[in-house]
Amino acid sequence: MKNGDDQYQLKKEPYVKYRNIGMKFGSTEVLKNINFDIFLGEKVAMIGPSGSGKTTLARMLMTLEKPTSGTIEISGEQLWHYKVKDKLVEANEKHLRKVRGQIGMVFQHYNLFPHMTILRNVMEAQVHVLGLTKSEAEQHAKKMLDKVGLGHKCNAYPTQLSGGQQQRAAMARSLVMKPKIMLFDEVTSALDPELVGEVLEVIKDIAAEYEMAMLLITHEMAFARDIADRVVFMADGNIVEEGPPEQLFLHPQHKRTIEFLSRFS
Ligand code: ADP
Repeated sequence: MKNGDDQYQLKKEPYVKYRNIGMKFGSTEVLKNINFDIFLGEKVAMIGPSGSGKTTLARMLMTLEKPTSGTIEISGEQLWHYKVKDKLVEANEKHLRKVRGQIGMVFQHYNLFPHMTILRNVMEAQVHVLGLTKSEAEQHAKKMLDKVGLGHKCNAYPTQLSGGQQQRAAMARSLVMKPKIMLFDEVTSALDPELVGEVLEVIKDIAAEYEMAMLLITHEMAFARDIADRVVFMADGNIVEEGPPEQLFLHPQHKRTIEFLSRFS
């Protein structure tokens, strides 16, 4: 990486910087001048009512949405532009692929390849994107599937697994790519209630074991409180309040935050 990771590891510099981000879909303004940082290794929980712009903010990091104003930097490089001899030029697909390579995302819907076994699902991108040999990829995939508690399901197809198991397989598929940042977008909200716990436990284990940064969009307040170094509350396209979990959950400052949290008590 151009700048080396030292300054980020030492937490001198945010690894991700959103600056003055605005987003409109047609005439609807869904993000309003967002300024937001993520440091390497940091676990950030993002909470707030539906429609407040959390997913849009996360999707921007994956280059799935382009802000209508403002800039996003990852490890010192702009997402949508890059420098050629001190001139900023529009990012091409190669640049965007490089950016995306640092980021993993797990959604509500796991989108595993249905015609491949779980093992193949986890191997695929390692071979085709990272260029590993099949046997290296298989070794890593098996280790990661063990870690998410699916070592015994390597040869199963996605439809043969429960929703919780499929979600854990999707996590293994992202994690094995060794992203610097993992985005989790309401990964439990499509699951039956009895399957939620096992998925949250796996995320907690991963958070404790891996140095990667995590941005977790969630409606599970107890989980956010347990896992996060910092909690961000969004409403109506704004970051209303952010702080360490004990501060935000026990001593929220803003009326909007207090009102939102009261729904969960
Ligand atoms: P959250 O994750 O907090 O529920 P979202 O980021 O999904 O919020 O959505 C924020 C707002 O943007 C919502 O009003 C949603 O309907 C709108 N929105 C999101 N994506 C699109 C899109 N592709 N086209 C039009 N409106 C969108």
